[in-house]
Amino acid sequence: MQWELVVGLEVHAQLLTDTKIFCGCSTSFGAPPNTHVCPVCLGLPGALPVLNRKVVDYAIKVGLATNCTVARMSRFARKNYFYPDLPKGYQISQFELPILEHGYLGVNDDSGSPKDIGITRIHMEEDAGKLVHPDIPGADYSHVDLNRACVPLLEIVSEPDIRSTGEALQYVKKLREILVYLGVCDGNMNEGSMRIDANISVRPMGQEEFGTRAEIKNVNSFKSLEQAIIYEQSRQIDLIEDGGKVVQETRLFDADRGITVGMRSKEEAHDYRYFPDPDLLPLVIEEEWIDAARDTLPELPDAKRSRFRSQYSLPDHDADLLCQSIDMADFFEEIVTLHNDPKAASNWIMGYVLRDMSRDELNSVKEAPITPTHIAGMLDLIKEGVISSKIAKDVFDEMWATGKEAKVIVEEKGLTQISDTSEIEGIVDDILAANPDEVASYRGGKTKLMGFFVGQVMKASRGKANPGLVNQLLKSKLEG
Ligand code: ADP
Ligand code: MG
Ligand code: ZN
Repeated sequence: MQWELVVGLEVHAQLLTDTKIFCGCSTSFGAPPNTHVCPVCLGLPGALPVLNRKVVDYAIKVGLATNCTVARMSRFARKNYFYPDLPKGYQISQFELPILEHGYLGVNDDSGSPKDIGITRIHMEEDAGKLVHPDIPGADYSHVDLNRACVPLLEIVSEPDIRSTGEALQYVKKLREILVYLGVCDGNMNEGSMRIDANISVRPMGQEEFGTRAEIKNVNSFKSLEQAIIYEQSRQIDLIEDGGKVVQETRLFDADRGITVGMRSKEEAHDYRYFPDPDLLPLVIEEEWIDAARDTLPELPDAKRSRFRSQYSLPDHDADLLCQSIDMADFFEEIVTLHNDPKAASNWIMGYVLRDMSRDELNSVKEAPITPTHIAGMLDLIKEGVISSKIAKDVFDEMWATGKEAKVIVEEKGLTQISDTSEIEGIVDDILAANPDEVASYRGGKTKLMGFFVGQVMKASRGKANPGLVNQLLKSKLEG
């Protein structure tokens, strides 16, 4: 029997506002427990929420960037449940009238054909607080930290349109990229700024009706998402093929073991008794507000990628990597303005800048010790024949280590390429004289030895000989 995978994702994204969604408390991370709190986010009786306009701004931008319709009227609702980190006894969310609906993101299916993944809805809500379990053996209590209570979130719910792990990963990566491009979320999955719940089911290939789904909670990395889907898919197929039945339930992904474990079944599921929040007016969004948000949208990742491909004649792979962040794309474009060789700029970024950023664990190229001017200056020197691209690699390392310009490093270290024919000729003669057997073999037809001679000359010149001249001189001396 052939099985088809069906996945729908619910993504919670924490918004980068300075203050919380319904009060003026700071959202900054890492403050001492319960210092960023007030009567509203503590849930004290009689305190009234006031909506943060910026949250709505951010939501509208996300909606426009994900092809959603922005509702002219939406409403906040109370989602009722009891938990110690939820002092009001309910979470303010949106239910029957969310701010955004009917969007989509484009991905490629496993055969490479483009397809859209539908976005059912995106709504605004507040986060809950955090339970802190003391790391003391035998401790029979927990602490509650409400700094995070009332921090704004967007919940982004996809249609069950995803048919493979590849599609799921592309969808989430694309979503994350858009949120980061818009500057509304930092996208740090390991810090919980983006949390994924994956709804997963299987059905016999060709069957119209969906199978029963399991909801996998709190998947917090791309790798976990991939593992969770693969594990859950085969768990469900094995279960059905052994004559069992998938039950609708919530499961937790255990990242250490790479498996999902049952948490609660549908019967134990909450009945949230949603109802409109009487403390908040319906949210009315005028056309002007949407237009103003549209005017501030940056060039989005897909548009930037295709512009990079056409304007700079870059291969897909280069455009993909460079456009993974606005900072990197800007960095690239600044180099090209200073030194007009897009492919060279791209090669140096992909080969060396990204390598050193990952070694030094930098999140943005803005944190790098070098600027576009450094790289453009180095490219100028290569083009002018002052340094070879081999020496340039050392210059690059030195620029990264010291922050000095390429020109300064080349002068200080005497790295200027030798382009003086007579000087190189001297070295070439020495090398040929020192290797008579190889010279004889070369002349006897083993022309592959050219690489050996070039290597010897470069070594003798400590990498500074102009490789073009070296080749030319060797050829004329060996063959002439
Ligand atoms: P709930 O409110 O219980 O979470 P929803 O109908 O809102 O249920 O669905 C939540 C998520 O589950 C959505 O992302 C949706 O695409 C996905 N989903 C629904 N049915 C299935 C299914 N049979 N298999 C996989 N995902 C599904
Ligand atoms: Mg759900
Ligand atoms: Zn507060």
